[in-house]
Amino acid sequence: MDIKTIVDLSYLVAIIFFVVGLKRLSSPATARSGNQLASVGMLIGVVATLVGLEKFSYEFIIGGLVIGSFVGAVLARKIEMTSMPEMVAVLNGFGGIASGLVALAEFFLKKDTGLFSMGDVGTVGLSVLIGLLTFTGSLLAFGKLKGFVTGRAVTYKGQQIINGLLGVITIGALVMFAIQPDMPIWMYILIVGALILGVALVIPIGGADMPVVISLLNSYSGVAAAATGFVLNNNLLIISGALVGASGLILTNIMCKAMNRSLGNVLFGAFGSVIEQIAGPDDGGPKTVRQATAEDLAVMTSYAQKVIIVPGYGLAVAQAQHSIREAGELLERKGVDVRYAIHPVAGRMPGHMNVLLAEANVPYDQLYDMDEINSEFESTDVVLVIGANDVVNPAARDNPASPIYGMPILDVDKAKTVVVFKRSMNPGFAGIDNELFYKHNTYMYFGDAKKSIMALISAIKEA
Ligand code: NDP
Repeated sequence: MDIKTIVDLSYLVAIIFFVVGLKRLSSPATARSGNQLASVGMLIGVVATLVGLEKFSYEFIIGGLVIGSFVGAVLARKIEMTSMPEMVAVLNGFGGIASGLVALAEFFLKKDTGLFSMGDVGTVGLSVLIGLLTFTGSLLAFGKLKGFVTGRAVTYKGQQIINGLLGVITIGALVMFAIQPDMPIWMYILIVGALILGVALVIPIGGADMPVVISLLNSYSGVAAAATGFVLNNNLLIISGALVGASGLILTNIMCKAMNRSLGNVLFGAFGSVIEQIAGPDDGGPKTVRQATAEDLAVMTSYAQKVIIVPGYGLAVAQAQHSIREAGELLERKGVDVRYAIHPVAGRMPGHMNVLLAEANVPYDQLYDMDEINSEFESTDVVLVIGANDVVNPAARDNPASPIYGMPILDVDKAKTVVVFKRSMNPGFAGIDNELFYKHNTYMYFGDAKKSIMALISAIKEA
């Protein structure tokens, strides 16, 4: 068997690892092994690529492997779950710029050999365009999430026209680059245009929509990698890039659906700027909320038949996943039917709550998706909403004037009693008031979620 066949067969094995790994990511029970399988696939791919190279410098490859693995491992261990979108943003950005630079390097290596057709140069241009746009767009998304730049949607008059013009100029430069690869000016315009376009496309998007944009940029980084795969004639890169491109797009679509928004509305609707005007004091007169004590809650929950726990972003911030599992177990031991209701966009990234609860060893069969559990709330005695806000806001269902109207929610207000654990009356990510807090069957339990649940645990033990 010659080297090329061995490399191709190894690529095939790597791709099978990727596909099976992706498939296993679809359930929390198998996600961990899916991740490991995909990593093994990546290692096979890297080794096979090196075996297939006629000459390369070991120092750079080994240096890159060691430094990259070290940085990756440290980041993965240190990163807080709540900062995961920022990390993904940075990784997307690096993926994008790597694809663009590799394609450009290949262009400079081969441009004088006559081996590059107009189509090949066009593909280089595509990789540069998408890769660099992903780079600046992702860095800006990172800055918005971290608070280095304003998280709000930044809009100005004529923005879409200017962005459109910028797009036309950049794509025009790409076409001219393919036709006249010897004229460096086209390449320069393409590079600068792509870098500016990334910023221009992300800046009008509000903080609340940032995770959707990051997922979309993830998809772009995959498309850039696939384009570079065509430039290098590397099947593994083409297929893995396509897998990233497609899965990023599917995830984007899932998020948009879960918020009942179109992708166009997320990208061009400037949601974050509208919210500012809608949020604010309610003008319907003073509204009151009822508060409960840990002892009240212990009695309510211990003597309930069915309790549903609704986790949200606040649970992740408070790192209260272990405590809530413990509280759930205590109640189960008292004969209570305990379930967890997971909204698809609870937290700051899809699957955020599943990952948190899996980390705390909550049994998977107690986790219910929104569609499965929504009909159960009516027959539920107590719902514990832990640091969730927007995903349980009845305005999304009942108030056509609300900016989140149409977003599917967990119908917690239909339960006999609802208890909301949060620190204050502050709004959630969407920045809007929540009618749930003022309903006759709702109790507020103010405080950090972890401390509150610890108090509840002590009270249940005594109840
Ligand atoms: P929200 O952001 O609506 O609410 C979280 C609540 O947690 C806040 O009201 C906050 O109230 C409370 N909180 C924060 N820290 C603590 C703490 N230490 N202890 C107790 N409570 C705390 O979260 P949801 O999960 O309900 O909704 C997610 C939002 O993110 C939605 O608007 C969704 O559209 C958006 N989003 C999510 C995506 C995803 O993929 N998951 C993607 C795109 C957008 P207080 O400050 O009073 O404590």
